[in-house]
Amino acid sequence: MRLTGSLFIYSLLFSASVYAAVPNVKVLIGKSLKDIVVNGTDLRQTIPAKKLYREFHGRQTVNFNCRLAKRVTLPNKPLLIASVSSPTGLVGWEEKRFKGELQLVAGPDAAYKGCDLVNLVPMDTYISSLLAKEMRADWPIEALKAQAVVARSYALSKMRPSLDNGAWDLESSEKNQVSGNFYDTTASTDLAARVTEGEVLADSDNKPVEGFFHSKCGGKTLRPDQVWSGSVEGYRSVDCPFCHKHGKKSWKQKLSKSYIAQLLSRTISKYTNSNVKVDSQNLTLVNDRASNTDLKFYQGSKLHSVRKSWLRNMAGRDQLPSHNFQMSESSHGIKIEGEGFGHGVGMCQLGAMELAKRGYSYKAILQHYFPDLNVSRIW
Ligand SMILES: [Zn+2]
Repeated sequence: MRLTGSLFIYSLLFSASVYAAVPNVKVLIGKSLKDIVVNGTDLRQTIPAKKLYREFHGRQTVNFNCRLAKRVTLPNKPLLIASVSSPTGLVGWEEKRFKGELQLVAGPDAAYKGCDLVNLVPMDTYISSLLAKEMRADWPIEALKAQAVVARSYALSKMRPSLDNGAWDLESSEKNQVSGNFYDTTASTDLAARVTEGEVLADSDNKPVEGFFHSKCGGKTLRPDQVWSGSVEGYRSVDCPFCHKHGKKSWKQKLSKSYIAQLLSRTISKYTNSNVKVDSQNLTLVNDRASNTDLKFYQGSKLHSVRKSWLRNMAGRDQLPSHNFQMSESSHGIKIEGEGFGHGVGMCQLGAMELAKRGYSYKAILQHYFPDLNVSRIW
């Protein structure tokens, strides 16, 4: 997740952040597609460039050949090729059904390879489907409501003011914390989205703040600047003794010293300007603790330090499921023992579930994970 770019767009958006109604959020669901087949009942298709509007009565399938777009002069910003909606509110694509409208967009990319498919959906519908993905719909309602506020704060911070800034706000992938079909909401996810409608995390000046969440912190949450490069105001690292007994237990890895040396070399060359070649013969780890955000080691007699979040980015989430780990040398190589799953920033989902079970309201849960922020309704 890159933070610096998004913060700029965020400030553009919030300079005029008064919403009269629920805003629509644009979610990328397919990239560089050659052929797009959309289906639904009484579909309505608009092609802005040709000023064309068509209605397809009954249950119909509409085909788009995005190879044709190669002949179009490419714009230097995203171009809306066509949009499709249905009075039923649902449009199908690839065995999935989406609420709202589907948009076919040509990218500004010179190596144009097809159309991107974007789902334009009301924010609170999006939040309800995200809850079904991110938490189990049978979790306590107060945990779902807390998640709704944090997820809305995250989505809002990603919203782009116009097509000039990009054709979509969020990707339907792990990157933006949601994936798959949007037609999987339940009564409780709808309720959690509806009763918190328009509510976001805000600072003391009532300015919305980007919301982060993760699966399980393993004991303590982290600030954004401990994991990524930019800082986000209002974040604090807080204790979370609540997630411990839930979800997957602690994790362990055993890796060879030469692999770790190679990982350290690659990490240093990617994230810093120096080009230190770490060799396993001369590598000595400094005593590490899970609470340390940096890993320190000697290469020969020289002390170096790397962020654990950089190592996790390089090694991947399968190898390092969280940033909350301790690395030590053993007779067989390097031992890594970790707690928690996910980036550890903001609200811990399993901790929120436990607090809800103990009778905390969603506002009290948010107060725990974001003690310097308030809940503010902005539409
Ligand atoms: Zn936790």
